[in-house]
Amino acid sequence: PADVLTFGETMLSWQTDAPLTGGAPARTAVAGAESNVAIGLARLGHRVAWAGRLGADEPARLILRTLRGEGVDVRHVTTDPQAPTGALLRERLVGGVNRVHYWRAGSAASGQRPAHLAAALAAGARVLHLTGITCALGPGPLATVTAAADHAREHGWTVVLDINHRTRLWSTEQATDTLRRLRDRVDILIASDDELPLICGDVNELLAAGAREVIVKRGGEGADLYGADGRHLHQPAHRVTAVDTVGAGDAFCAGYLSGLLDGLETAERLGRAGTVAAFTVAAHGDWEGLPHRDELALLQAPPGSAIR
Ligand code: ATP
Repeated sequence: PADVLTFGETMLSWQTDAPLTGGAPARTAVAGAESNVAIGLARLGHRVAWAGRLGADEPARLILRTLRGEGVDVRHVTTDPQAPTGALLRERLVGGVNRVHYWRAGSAASGQRPAHLAAALAAGARVLHLTGITCALGPGPLATVTAAADHAREHGWTVVLDINHRTRLWSTEQATDTLRRLRDRVDILIASDDELPLICGDVNELLAAGAREVIVKRGGEGADLYGADGRHLHQPAHRVTAVDTVGAGDAFCAGYLSGLLDGLETAERLGRAGTVAAFTVAAHGDWEGLPHRDELALLQAPPGSAIR
C-alpha cells in the first residue's frame, strides 16, 4: 500500500514570462495541486499514489511520464477515451503577477466518478490527501472526494483536506456550502487565512467538528497550527528571495505530510512544511524546485557556498 493516496486534475501547463498578447513564448510543464503534493512526497522518499483521470492524448503522456519519472505511483490512473486532458496557461504580468486561464470544462478529470477510484482505495494507504479544487470540478469529482473520505475514515486512514479555493471554478457560496458539508470527515485541515471562512466561522468550530489539527497558511508570514488538544504554534516563513510563489501551498502540504509520516512532533512537522515551501518559493515552476530529502539541509547552508 501507499503511504499517501491523492487524486485530482493534473493538466498540461503553458507558462509565459510576459503577457500572452505580445506573443510571448511559452514553456511546457505539468500542473496540478495534488500531483505537486505527490511529487513533493516522492522526492522526500515516501510511497505516494496519484490516481487522477486523464484523456487519451499527448498531454496525458507527458503527465504520466513526468509523474513516473518522479517516482509517483500512477498504476491506478484511469483514462477517458472521449474527453481531453485539461490545460492551463499561466501568464506572467507586471510585478510578477500571474494570470491563469483554464481549458478544463468537460475535461477527463471533470468526469471522474467514485468507480474510477475504487481500485486505488482498495490498494490502501495511511493518508488520503484531498483538495477543494476536486470538489469544484463537478458532481462526479465531488462524489469521488466524498466516497474516498468515507472509505478512508472507515479504514482508519488520516484524511487531509487542503481547501485551495479557486475562484475561477466556483462561487464562494458554492464552495462554502460544499466544504461545510465535508468538514466532519476531515482529520487535518489546511487552509490559507482567507480560505478559512469557507469551511468554518472560527478554528474552534472545526476542532469541535472532529478535526485533529487545523493549519492556517499565511504566505510570507508563515503558518499557524491549532490542535484539538488546545495547542497553538506559529511557524515563521524562511527568508528566501521569492522567485515564484505558485505551488508554495502544495509544497508546504507535502512537507507537513512527510513529517506526519515520519512521526515528527508538531513543531518539527511545521518546520519541515516551511522548509519545503521555501524551496519552491525560491525556484521557478510550480513543483520543479521541490527538495529531495538529502537537500533539506541546504537552506541552512551559507548563501553562495559550494558543495565539493
Ligand atoms: P499557493 O496556493 O500559491 O500554492 P497558498 O496560498 O496555499 O499558496 P501560502 O500561504 O502563500 O500558500 O504559502 C504557504 C507557505 O509557503 C507559507 O506558510 C510559507 O511557509 C511559505 N511561503 C509562502 N510565501 C513565502 C515567501 N515569500 N517566503 C518564504 N516562504 C514563503
